[in-house]
Amino acid sequence: MAPVSAILTDIEGTTSSIAFVKDTLFPFAKAALEDFLATHAHDPEVQACLTEARRLAAPDEEAPAALRRWMEEDAKVTPMKALQGLIWRQGYLDGRIEGHLWPDVAPCLRAWARAGIGLHVYSSGSVAAQKLLFGHSVAGDLASLFTGFFDTNVGGKREAASYSAIARGLHLAPESILFLSDVEQELDAAGTAGLQTCQLVRTADGTQPSARHRQAADFPGVASLFGLPLPRAAAESSAA
Ligand SMILES: [Mg+2]
Repeated sequence: MAPVSAILTDIEGTTSSIAFVKDTLFPFAKAALEDFLATHAHDPEVQACLTEARRLAAPDEEAPAALRRWMEEDAKVTPMKALQGLIWRQGYLDGRIEGHLWPDVAPCLRAWARAGIGLHVYSSGSVAAQKLLFGHSVAGDLASLFTGFFDTNVGGKREAASYSAIARGLHLAPESILFLSDVEQELDAAGTAGLQTCQLVRTADGTQPSARHRQAADFPGVASLFGLPLPRAAAESSAA
């Protein structure tokens, strides 16, 4: 097994609970929609969302009503997704939302960064959303620990070519990168591209364990499996 010089991590189900997106982020945007439109009506980014929404709305439907309906339906409609992103950004910036991280995550990320291991994110959420989540997390501003942020602009998470492109982008040999995810098909794709893989099996998220990949229940578990440093407190308690 090659030594790990970089970590590439998924977010949802890996660093953060799946429930955070479903039970916090989506309801937050729904609850804030009308207020946000009223107070940001002259913001050019909001104007662009409204113009596009009007174009895609039903003939007798106003843009705000269409946006409300797409949110209720969880439709993948671009102006609604863009507006959701703007509402979340406002929520993160004024402190009403904090990015969820499992408690084991931040101490390990800090220990790994201190040891010179490169930290990178690959998530289906946009790069902007990734930076907001880590920049305004429950454990403080962790965005600066990461050097690479990748979203589906690099390709789908279940396609090996995406992981090859990320390795090339980072100027690293694929086998020196460890990919962390909860989803078997993503781990398969990364493995095909030559990356090392570890599945995070978060019982709270009901992760389906994969027979094809090494598994850890949390980030210290990853550290033990792959010879990565542990946070000081954890190293002391495991030595005791
Ligand atoms: Mg995931």
